[in-house]
Amino acid sequence: MKLISANWKMNITPSQTKEYILKFLPLIEDAKDREILLCVPYTSLCIASEMLKDTNVKLGAQNVYYEQKGAFTGEISVSMLKDLGVSYVIVGHSERRWIFGENDEVVNKKLVACLDGGLRPILCVGERLDEREAGLTYKVIETQMRIALSSLENYTDMIDIAYEPVWAIGSGNPATPEDAQAVHRFIKNVLEDLNKNYQGMTRVIYGGSVNVHNAGEFMKMPDVDGLLVGGASLDPKTFSQIVKSF
Ligand code: PEP
Repeated sequence: MKLISANWKMNITPSQTKEYILKFLPLIEDAKDREILLCVPYTSLCIASEMLKDTNVKLGAQNVYYEQKGAFTGEISVSMLKDLGVSYVIVGHSERRWIFGENDEVVNKKLVACLDGGLRPILCVGERLDEREAGLTYKVIETQMRIALSSLENYTDMIDIAYEPVWAIGSGNPATPEDAQAVHRFIKNVLEDLNKNYQGMTRVIYGGSVNVHNAGEFMKMPDVDGLLVGGASLDPKTFSQIVKSF
């Protein structure tokens, strides 16, 4: 099933979450042939979890720590998220990488923890503008994937991947659907190379300045299995239109 996910980032308070979900649910009630996901701030997980129970919308977090418990002030574990009814978590978002210094090895540890704990990760990969201009897009993505998935080669069906070119995130300058298609195909080729028993269950979703006008065009591409939407997911009506754009 196609996956359409919101990434609210550091936006929307718990009380605004309540208002958002009250408006959003009736708008997407009959969209049952696609998976709809809200990746909300930690502070909104509790209220969102209660409100999304028994609905067609899944709950996701935007980050997780790889240790199981202990003296890690400010961090949140896989089991804490699971206990709240969270089923997905974004791992290795470019803002985590470039603002908070997460490298591919940390991303790998987080993926291992997610799979050990039964949480489905959405691994984000993508090149910066200077890397793209230097012709390094495919090399960067392959390196990110190989390190992030190290020791997990046989479990690639248990994750989804978001292709998010860093230069397209929040910039109003999306990749073209054709460029996204080419990179998505490449990502699937790398997955097939990593895992000889790959079943093709990994959805490769596109993120980077998706809006109501371009969402349907991305979804026409054969290897675009969904969307990860930042800014345009902050309004429930706009996000519902993106959910229903294909
Ligand atoms: C994101 O941060 O995951 C994202 C895709 O953001 P935006 O849609 O705002 O570019």
